[in-house]
Amino acid sequence: MLWRNHSALKGKLHPDYPDDLQVIVHDGGPRLTERQPELVWVRITGMGKDLLTGTVLNAPTQLLSVQQEQHIQFALAGVEHPVMLTAKYLKEKAAWNIQACQKCGLTELFDAPSDLIKVIFPNIPADAHLEGFSSFCPLCHGVQLVEATNVAAEAKHPWWKFWAS
Ligand SMILES: [Zn+2]
Repeated sequence: MLWRNHSALKGKLHPDYPDDLQVIVHDGGPRLTERQPELVWVRITGMGKDLLTGTVLNAPTQLLSVQQEQHIQFALAGVEHPVMLTAKYLKEKAAWNIQACQKCGLTELFDAPSDLIKVIFPNIPADAHLEGFSSFCPLCHGVQLVEATNVAAEAKHPWWKFWAS
């Protein structure tokens, strides 16, 4: 039970149930769903370097993609409660630098970058090389800037413009 004494989780674990904490779960960010994120209790089952796993203890009231007893992955995300991250998001995340929300400090997106790009740039070719985009924070509707990790090395165009390759 490594996590019980983890400094980053201090004050977040339930005082009587030290494997339980509240996690923000969601169906996605505001571009992809109208359903609001919810705070549920989750029992931690594992902890990696940056990622925790756990079981949802109480049923969300209006979400479609999260159910009671579902196994989820989540991480500390710069805000009060940790945030659920989907497998698709985690797979794509390494290709992007996600800047913290300028208003609330959230360091993760709720949606996979490829899903956001399809909505933000509906006419962009599927094989286009996108250097960066901005997204609305799913918690406070502040702005999060997202930059492809290979852009800094190339630096041929301002990062905030996208270019078809
Ligand atoms: Zn925010």
